[in-house]
Amino acid sequence: MGERNMRELLASSLTRRRFLASASAFAGLALISQLPASTASAAPRFGGNPFTLGVASGDPRPDSVVIWTRLALDPFNGGGLPSRRIPVRWVLASDDQMRTIVRRGTAVASPELAHSVHVEVAGLEPNRPYWYQFLAGRELSPVGRTRTAAAPGTALDQFRFAFASCQDWQNGFYPAYRAMAEEDLNLVVHLGDYIYEYGPREGAPRQHLGPEVQTLDEYRNLHALYKSDRFLQAAHAAAAWAVTWDDHEVENNYAAAISENPGEDPVQFLRRRAAAYQAYYEHMPLRASALPNGPDMLLYRRLTFGNLAEFSVLDTRQYRSDQPCDDGLKPRCAAALDPAATMTGPEQERWLLAGLGQSQARWNIIAQQTMFAQFDFLAGPGQGGGPSQAFNLDQWDGYVAARNRILGFVQQRQPSNPVIITGDIHSSWVHDIKADFDNPASATLATEFVGTSISSDFPAQFIAPVRAALPDNPHTKFFDGTFRGYVSCTLSPQQWRSDFRVAESILDENAPVRTLASFVVENGSPGAQRV
Ligand code: FE
Ligand code: CA
Repeated sequence: MGERNMRELLASSLTRRRFLASASAFAGLALISQLPASTASAAPRFGGNPFTLGVASGDPRPDSVVIWTRLALDPFNGGGLPSRRIPVRWVLASDDQMRTIVRRGTAVASPELAHSVHVEVAGLEPNRPYWYQFLAGRELSPVGRTRTAAAPGTALDQFRFAFASCQDWQNGFYPAYRAMAEEDLNLVVHLGDYIYEYGPREGAPRQHLGPEVQTLDEYRNLHALYKSDRFLQAAHAAAAWAVTWDDHEVENNYAAAISENPGEDPVQFLRRRAAAYQAYYEHMPLRASALPNGPDMLLYRRLTFGNLAEFSVLDTRQYRSDQPCDDGLKPRCAAALDPAATMTGPEQERWLLAGLGQSQARWNIIAQQTMFAQFDFLAGPGQGGGPSQAFNLDQWDGYVAARNRILGFVQQRQPSNPVIITGDIHSSWVHDIKADFDNPASATLATEFVGTSISSDFPAQFIAPVRAALPDNPHTKFFDGTFRGYVSCTLSPQQWRSDFRVAESILDENAPVRTLASFVVENGSPGAQRV
């Protein structure tokens, strides 16, 4: 299959023996010929296949897509490669047998970026699948499938994507990704908690290999552990992804330069953040615009698919103000209403609203991390003079003024069909987004779908209290805390459909995956209806 055709490609330009003797003899290997002789004089010989972490693609545009891999022979221990630049050839074909190569080139895997490779392949045709493969030395990668975006404004009848979040390795396996890899998707959106920074947990179905991560090497090894999962690799190889992070890619509930550990020096924490961000970049199919600069990394961005879908992908950790009222699940204090409090930072907020205001797309998706809708977790009226409400202050409920600014903009400017997609809370929810959550008669302005975790835990003892609080939150149309999975979305000009796909178990990677519930949103009519 792919391997045979890659070998035929090699044979067509040079004999196999000459290839082994000198990679720089290849026609078209401009990058290799520019390398110092010591690094480029011979094709590297590996003691095994270095594509242990699979392949990925991402951030599709009408004419380009990023393809990614990372060379690692000993992936959980620093990679096991010599500390020098290694040429990696890549090809992109218009067919799944890799017969018709339409683009090819050579990238450099450098030790500074953990021998990762990010190629922005340009000059492609819009809205069509492509297949890609890497070659290092004599070793071939698996073949990945990707797809370019439809050009903005192009009429699209359908767009299919899945979204996922929260894949704690130590809580179980990824049957959800096995099922996702079998779907035919234009895009996969990952909303964060791709890794969890914690040390080993006793009794876990599978364990982290070292203590809580702090250094660049430790974050790299942890990303490599997650990327070693065969079903996560399959899901990456099956479709283009758009990724964003939440907190655990760095540290639980951090906010900008503020650690969750009280008293931790922000300068020290930013060093940790820089290590975490760099390892994240190295392991994701991101464009060079996301290349980290010390502790800073530009991750928020916009992706457009014809006239049908536009994604504003947010970063609500890097620029946020500290959680108010000392964080937690509790009644709001005044700080939760502070107009200066922010999830996005002012610059990203302006960018978000400007994009929503200008969008020509039918469905405008805000892809972000924590629950946007208000949710009062305390059932019933206050007892014995106690509080009657409790909010999760790490969510938008702790940043009420920032949420109201977005809602005010939506109400006034009426962008077409705003839909918020969310992760973080390890459970499935559907909300009508109200102009005033305390007034059920107020206008419904948008729809929110919160996807459950791929594997991370939702403690069973939380399920009954949330269910009991549902009558206090009439804008919440659905809640399930029992199952892990992902959400599969099918968009047409007339309708949005979300299918909550769940695994029967995460203790068996081959557990069946089924649709737990489905909801639709009709064009021009915000709010979800169960079907
Ligand atoms: Fe999580
Ligand atoms: Ca989280």
